[in-house]
Amino acid sequence: MNLKLAPGLSIRKSPINGKGCFATIRFHRGRKIAEYTGERISDLEARRRAGRAKLRICDIDGRWSLDGSRDGNGTHYINHSCEPNAFMKTLYGHVLFFALRDIRPDEEITVDYEDTLHPDTKRCRCRAPNCRGTINRV
Ligand SMILES: [Zn+2]
Repeated sequence: MNLKLAPGLSIRKSPINGKGCFATIRFHRGRKIAEYTGERISDLEARRRAGRAKLRICDIDGRWSLDGSRDGNGTHYINHSCEPNAFMKTLYGHVLFFALRDIRPDEEITVDYEDTLHPDTKRCRCRAPNCRGTINRV
């Protein structure tokens, strides 16, 4: 697969889970990091695909989702953390990542997923001091 990364991002092994998305440049607090890209699919199809081992699906609006494992730009490797340095925001059907605080080059970019297609029992391994223990906020 030929992965076209968004500017300022790199993908490598993550201490949290599998591969992660790392900054190669400084992102100042409040700055847009990148847009989540991927194949646009219905939520029904998203639930069907949710059985796969690696889940790379992002919900847009409760009807449509993006599957970053196809046509993703690296943002689909952004791992969950209970103490994230970025957040996701949906604007006019686009899913955007913003820096929650200043992010240094080489830092792993993380967001709090809060609600995913993962089962509520799925354990979180983010190692944050205030880790809630699960990926979904239940
Ligand atoms: Zn956690």
